[in-house]
Amino acid sequence: MSTKDYLEKDYYKTLGVPKTAKAADIKKAYRELARKYHPDANKGNADAEERFKSITEAYNVLSDEKQRKEYDEARSMFGGGFRVPTGTRGGAGGTGPFDLGDLFGGDSGLGDVLGGIFRGRGGTAQSRARRGADVETETTLSLGDSIDGATVALRLTGEGPCPVCHGTGAKAGTVPRVCPDCQGTGQQSRNLGGFGLSEPCKTCRGRGLVVDNPCTSCSGSGRAMSSQTVQARIPAGVADGQRIRLPGKGASGEHGGKNGDLYVRVHVKPHAVFGRSGDNLTVSVPVTISELALGAEIKVPTHRGAAVTVRIPPGTPNGRVFRVPGRGVRKKDGTLGALLATVEVTVPQELNNKARSALEDLRIATSGPDPREELLRRARQD
Ligand SMILES: [Zn+2]
Ligand SMILES: [Zn+2]
Repeated sequence: MSTKDYLEKDYYKTLGVPKTAKAADIKKAYRELARKYHPDANKGNADAEERFKSITEAYNVLSDEKQRKEYDEARSMFGGGFRVPTGTRGGAGGTGPFDLGDLFGGDSGLGDVLGGIFRGRGGTAQSRARRGADVETETTLSLGDSIDGATVALRLTGEGPCPVCHGTGAKAGTVPRVCPDCQGTGQQSRNLGGFGLSEPCKTCRGRGLVVDNPCTSCSGSGRAMSSQTVQARIPAGVADGQRIRLPGKGASGEHGGKNGDLYVRVHVKPHAVFGRSGDNLTVSVPVTISELALGAEIKVPTHRGAAVTVRIPPGTPNGRVFRVPGRGVRKKDGTLGALLATVEVTVPQELNNKARSALEDLRIATSGPDPREELLRRARQD
C-alpha cells in the first residue's frame, strides 16, 4: 500500500464500518462482504470481482493494527480526497481534483513533497498545464521607425511567484500546511435546511493551505511584482494606435503550458513635416499666388530622401493635391505608397512698392463681375 492509496481510498467506507470500529466489527463486516462478492459466487461478474479485491485490500490494512494507525494518520493529515484549488488567482476556476500521482510521485519526505507542489507553480498548485497570460504594453515610435519597422526594448512588469519563497508564501525552511478547516479543499460546506452550500473556506481563503510562518518578502501572499525586458520587432508600416500581436512573448506558461501573447499598442510621434494617411505620407507645401496662377516647378521634400520637383500647371487652385508615387509607406505587398503634396498659398504680409503696384495693376486687369455674385445669389435660396 502506498500513501497515495491511503489518501484515495476510504477503507472504512469500503467495509461499511465507522472509523471507530473495533477489530472484531471490522472482521465481521469483511466476512459478510467477502462471502457476498466472492468470485466463486459471482462467476463472470467483473464488478463483483473488483469489489472483492477492494474489500480484501481494505481489510488487509484495517485488520493490521500498525497499518491501520498509519492509514488513519495519513488521512487525518490530508483529509480524504485531497483537493487543491485550481486557479485561485485571478478569480476564474473553482476547485478540481488534485492529481495525487503528481503529489506522491517521488519518494520524498512530507516537507519535500509539499515544497515540490509549489516550486515553480506561481503559488497555485495545479495539476494541469496552463497557458501563460497575455500581456499588454505600449511603445512610441518615430515616424521613420513606424515606416521601416524597428526592434524595440519593452519593459514588462507583472505579478509572478515570489522569488524568495518560490510562491509558497512560507518563510524559508518552512512549508505551508494543509488547511485543517477544509482539509485542503478550499471549500467549506454549510447545511441549509437539507441543502449543502459550498463556499470558499474562511481560514485559508480558498487556497486549501495555511502558512504558519509567512515569507517576509511577500508577507505570505506568494506573489511578487517582477519586471523583465523583451526585445520585440515592430513590423514595417505600423500605424499610430495599431495593436501588434507578438505570439509567445507574453507571460510564461506553467507546467509545460504555452507562453501567452504580447500585445503592443504602437504610438507614432507626430513629425514636424510629414503626416500619414493609410499607406501614403502627406505634406503641405507653401506656394505663391503667382506660382498657382502662372504655373511653376516647385521642390517638394520627401521623407528620408532628396526633394523631388513637382510641376504646377498654370491656374492651379489652392489646396490641390499632387501625388508623388513611391515616396510613401511600404505596404504589406512590398510596394510603396505615395507622397501626397497639398499646395497652400501664402499671402505676402509685407509688400514693397513694386509688388504693391504690380498687385494693384493685377486687380485692375482682372476686374470684372463680382466673383461672389453667384455665391450671394445661391445663399438666398432656401
Ligand atoms: Zn515570498
Ligand atoms: Zn481552508
